[in-house]
Amino acid sequence: MQFIDFNIDPRMQDNLRAMGFEHPTPIQSATVPQALTGRDILGSAETGTGKTAAFLLPLLQKLLDTPASRHPRALVLVPTRELALQVSEQATQLSKSLPLRVTTVYGGVGISPQTQALKRGVDVVIATPGRLLDHVGRGNIKFSDVQVFVLDEADRMLDIGFLPDIRRVVRLLPKERQTMLFSATLKPIVSLSREVTRDPVRVEVEKTVTPDAIEQVLFPVPEHLKFQLLIQLLKDETADSVLIFSRTKRRADRIVHKLKREKVSAAVIHGDRSQGQRVRALESFRAGKTRVLVATDIAARGIDVEGISHVINYDVPQQAEDYVHRIGRTGRAEAVGNAFTFVAPDDERMIHRIEYVLGHKLPRRQVDGIDYSVPVVRRPSPEEIRKYVEANRRKKEAAAAEAVATVTKKRRRRRPRRRSKSAAPAKSN
Ligand code: AMP
Repeated sequence: MQFIDFNIDPRMQDNLRAMGFEHPTPIQSATVPQALTGRDILGSAETGTGKTAAFLLPLLQKLLDTPASRHPRALVLVPTRELALQVSEQATQLSKSLPLRVTTVYGGVGISPQTQALKRGVDVVIATPGRLLDHVGRGNIKFSDVQVFVLDEADRMLDIGFLPDIRRVVRLLPKERQTMLFSATLKPIVSLSREVTRDPVRVEVEKTVTPDAIEQVLFPVPEHLKFQLLIQLLKDETADSVLIFSRTKRRADRIVHKLKREKVSAAVIHGDRSQGQRVRALESFRAGKTRVLVATDIAARGIDVEGISHVINYDVPQQAEDYVHRIGRTGRAEAVGNAFTFVAPDDERMIHRIEYVLGHKLPRRQVDGIDYSVPVVRRPSPEEIRKYVEANRRKKEAAAAEAVATVTKKRRRRRPRRRSKSAAPAKSN
């Protein structure tokens, strides 16, 4: 199938060409013709499959075919600010020279510019749930004219706990609308899809980049040697664009701090970073100015950077499905990528589950230049430190008391004994 086979505006065809999209991806071929008929869509597709254009093309076409309004006619709900920005970028490119206005609404930035944009009038709103409801509360947005509603990465939305917010938004939407719901996996969102879609066409597509295009290796390593292993792996010059996944925000910060100490350019992206900081980190990574980007799972959702040479799971993911999602960040655009996973002894059960999901075992490798026998240098806990300090203080006090006692004893020994009067021998007459 070709883009030309889609019944879409020639200006959008031009825009697709300008974006370098030559042929539709499988999810686009499966979704666009169905969505153009107005049917609801229930799509199983991950980031990297081209799902964004799959819903944007029919959405924009529908808006071109229907009369303009002061109020938004399409709403795209996404779980994260990064994804909001990415979808927005594609929507802007696809709608170039079309009489359609796109605006993005997400938290972590000032609300006034968004308010002004909404008040000026927009056709497409791309939003994260919290800030969108904020605007609803302020009376900045009306959903009465929404004709197309897209729920992107619905499974992640539920993971983050957005279900109540989604329900609040959906209650405000007109019943007569087209709904497109996309999710990496459909199982967790079955009941949500029943609530929000009507007789949807199910579209399931495998990732365009198969794991075969990604060299996956497990590196068994004790926890305390992980950073050393990372440095060793970064000696490989082909590792020029490295995305590292860390389990927690604090660990992500620590890894970046240590990398900088080793003179490796690195940036971090997680939920505690401001929107500006995240955008700058991502931009710098995308431009190749930062070699390493360290991220947590949620923040990494929606990171779409071409040419990531290596994905390194510094910590194994907490769900086997996340593994597939993480490694899909590399090996894009038909290039071969590397996905390395550090496996601490406690991670073996999760690795079994990942191998089960993949349907095959993963090779294991050790790295030269690492002494795996180096014993654990475990950091004591604050409680252990307190006990240690206390014990030391007691020891010192005991030693001081003993020293005083010894000196006193010695002095006593040196001092001639004064005879007591009572003990003086009685004078004989
Ligand atoms: P998505 O799954 O929508 O996040 O898209 C993943 C990447 O594929 C993005 O960088 C898109 O720009 C790119 N992409 C989407 N559709 C196509 C296409 N038909 N041809 C080439 N690249 C595409």
